[in-house]
Amino acid sequence: MDCIFCKILSKQIPNYTVYEDDHTLAFLDIFPCVKGHTVVIPKVHAETLFDVSDSDLSALTVGVKRSMEKIQTVLQPNGFTVGWNHGSAGGQAVPHIHVHIFPRWDKDGGGSMHSIIKKTGEIDVAALAKQFI
Ligand code: AMP
Ligand code: ZN
Repeated sequence: MDCIFCKILSKQIPNYTVYEDDHTLAFLDIFPCVKGHTVVIPKVHAETLFDVSDSDLSALTVGVKRSMEKIQTVLQPNGFTVGWNHGSAGGQAVPHIHVHIFPRWDKDGGGSMHSIIKKTGEIDVAALAKQFI
């Protein structure tokens, strides 16, 4: 499997581990956006969330929580921004799902998730909602 994160799992590529259990591995991002920037991956290869089984996803969520607890203890941030880039339009570069954990500090200059994408025009929410009925 020519997947850089699978190579980390098989120890062909080294990592700086933050947390590990039977189902997930969390390690420091090699190009961090902030001190403690961590990625959490399932130990089973899956490209996006849609490819992860519900049981693996449950385990991944626990791995994210445990990793955040570890980061909280070690770095004592004031908060976190947590999420994943899903698909190329969503900014995903590595095709093995990974949850980014960004520790946040008061007045660190970063924004909320809402600052990621700029609104391009008015959206009729009521009309849109009809598509979900
Ligand atoms: P994404 O754009 O969501 O696919 O993010 C992929 C992330 O993986 C980026 O933040 C990279 O800096 C990170 N990354 C790539 N290779 C490695 C590596 N060998 N060790 C740690 N982080 C990595
Ligand atoms: Zn993989």
